Order: sequence, then structure tokens, then C-alpha cells
Amino acid sequence: MKTLKIAIQKSGRLNEKSVELLKNCGLNFENYKSSLISPVSNFPLEILFLRDDDIPEYVQDGIADLGIVGENVIQETGVDVSYLQRLGFGKCSLKIAVPNTANYQSLSDLNGESIATSYPNILEKFLGENNIKADIRTISGSVEISPGLGLANAIFDIVSTGGTLKSNGLKPFADVMSSEAVLIGRKGSENEDLVKELIQRIQSVLRAKETKYVVLNAPKDNLQTIIDLLPGVKSPSVVPLAEEGWVAIHTVIPERDFWERISKLKEAGAQGIVVMPIEKIIL
Ligand code: ATP
Ligand code: ZN
Repeated sequence: MKTLKIAIQKSGRLNEKSVELLKNCGLNFENYKSSLISPVSNFPLEILFLRDDDIPEYVQDGIADLGIVGENVIQETGVDVSYLQRLGFGKCSLKIAVPNTANYQSLSDLNGESIATSYPNILEKFLGENNIKADIRTISGSVEISPGLGLANAIFDIVSTGGTLKSNGLKPFADVMSSEAVLIGRKGSENEDLVKELIQRIQSVLRAKETKYVVLNAPKDNLQTIIDLLPGVKSPSVVPLAEEGWVAIHTVIPERDFWERISKLKEAGAQGIVVMPIEKIIL
């Protein structure tokens, strides 16, 4: 039987979450720090640990069937791969930032200026779309120090909290793209059975993350009011309690809707509300 290969980042910001996601899919493997390949013992899969920059091309060229990598890296490398699933981690945005002292009003003020970046292709596309002609200076790291050194008038880089910008006397000027980790596959690989199976497992883990199992006690008299307050539930399980006039409601609901309703549930008489994590939801 064919063995799939999935490429993930060897070390860095995406490594831990990628490993965690695959382990939550029930895949058994050693997270060797020293080796490039780790076999999965209970699924025909091998995990390749690579630099994130290499992952899109490895997938495009078929050296790996699948990969987990930031959208920013995929766009920068300009590869032709399939986006199979957004993964909800590694979120960041790419922005143009300028010195606090700069007096740029609109994007067109960047005409004729120099911008330092390690993402020249994404920047070139953005500038082109906005009809701006600027001098792109490609550098591989510590982009944020270049205006201070007189190497460029502005920068284009990943910004998460803005702390690094601030400590270098820079301010955000234009949002160019937002990014998160995605599962990519070789074009056509999405039709393979093993790939389908893995995507389904990943989706069941992601779904479970957003959802909680809730148990609460409710006075029978107010049962319908309480059920109506539980979002998205068609038919919760209702179990009688030993105490006359009370029932327990068991249900599965999206967490983000839940917290704002707690006070209303309590007002309606709900008690002993227990919220539990769910490991997987298989549809
Ligand atoms: P590698 O050694 O694999 O080339 P790297 O230094 O290029 O690693 P990391 O800093 O580990 O990369 O970031 C990997 C990815 O994590 C980024 O490409 C981006 O998609 C995402 N990311 C999320 N938040 C941030 C952030 N605050 N700074 C940088 N990258 C971030
Ligand atoms: Zn990298």
C-alpha cells in the first residue's frame, strides 16, 4: 500500500501546533528533533520535518503529498498547490510599516520610496495592483531595523502584536494580507483515499475544538425556555433527575455562542452547568 508523506515545519512557530494536530488525529509518531523523517506506526504516513520555506515546493513537486505551512509562504513561493483545509493557527498579518516620524498620507506616497522585505513577491504584487512604483529591497532577516539603518524608507513584514514595530520606531501603514497555517496538497491528491481520510480526521479535530459538551440541570417547568436559549440545538437529550420536577439537559454547542447566554440560562433556572471539551466530532 502507498505511504503518504506530509511535510511540517521542523522547528519554529508552526512546529508545535502541527505536531499537536496530527497527534490529535490519533497518529502515533515520535517527534524526533534530530531526524528528517518520522514514520507513523498506525497509519500509512511519514512525517517530513523541513524548513517552512521548502514545504510548498516539496508538495508541488510531489516529494511530499501534503504539507502544513503559512499562507504567506505559499503566496511568496508562488507554487501551484491545492488548499485543502485552513487550520486556525499560525495567524498573523503582513503589513507595510513606516517610521513614526514619516509623513505618508496615502499609499501613493510610497511611489519612489524604498521598502525592505523578505517577501518581495507578495509586495511586488500588492504594489502592482495599487499602481505604485517603489524600490523593493530584499533582505532575509531583521527587516524592521532597516529604516533605522538608513537602508530603506519603509518595511513590509509579518506583524503580530506590533511590539517589534514599536521598539524600532515604526508604525503600521498598510495591511496587505492576513495569513494562517493551511493544509496543502499536490494538485489532484485530494482525490486519493488516504488523503481524504486524513482530511476527515483533521476536520473532526477542528470541529471539536470549536464545540463544547454541555450538561446542565433545569426545572421541568422552564424546560422549553432553557432549550430555546441553547444555540443551534435541534433536539438535546433530556434525562430525568432523581429529584422530582428536575431534568438534566445534555447537548453539544459552539463555544463562542455559549458564554453570552450563561446569565440568561441561570435566570431561567438552569443550575450545575458543566462545560466539557470534546476530542472529536465525526459526521
Ligand atoms: P524556518 O526555520 O522553518 O524557515 P522561519 O523563521 O521562516 O522558520 P517562523 O518564525 O517559525 O519561520 O514562522 C513560521 C510561520 O509562522 C510564518 O511564516 C507565519 O506563517 C507564521 N507566523 C505566525 N505568527 C507569526 C509571527 N508573529 N511572526 C512570524 N511568523 C508568524
Ligand atoms: Zn522560513
